[in-house]
Amino acid sequence: MTNLRYCPVCFNEVLQEDRICPFCKIDIPMWSRSMPYTSRLIRALNNPHSEVRMGAILSLGKRGDIEAARPLADCALRWPTDVVQGLEIVRAIALLPLSPERKGALDRLLFHPSRPVKSAAEKTLRGLSHSLRPKIPEG
Ligand SMILES: [Zn+2]
Repeated sequence: MTNLRYCPVCFNEVLQEDRICPFCKIDIPMWSRSMPYTSRLIRALNNPHSEVRMGAILSLGKRGDIEAARPLADCALRWPTDVVQGLEIVRAIALLPLSPERKGALDRLLFHPSRPVKSAAEKTLRGLSHSLRPKIPEG
């Protein structure tokens, strides 16, 4: 275990026990308490460290909050060469409830420069249109 973590505001490395970030002077525990968890995760998508972004992507998928849809797509497009992250983002968006936000985010990923990410978004969208098809009662 490392004794370092990242400041949630300026993303510099700080010590675990630092209450005030030595770089941006924010009160870290106070900032964390005042910011809703989803907003903090969405903010972490801008973190320059890929392992921090990955943690946020996984948590946002599990939380299923549609406000994360667009920031997730933005994150994938901001790091166009990070295919592993891009695929994880498609998976996270796929976990979000059916909504225009979810569809909009997947639509944007159709323009992702990485082919595997693009095709994962395409497949998820196809699944989406399928599940939205009205059910025809049998018999
Ligand atoms: Zn800071």
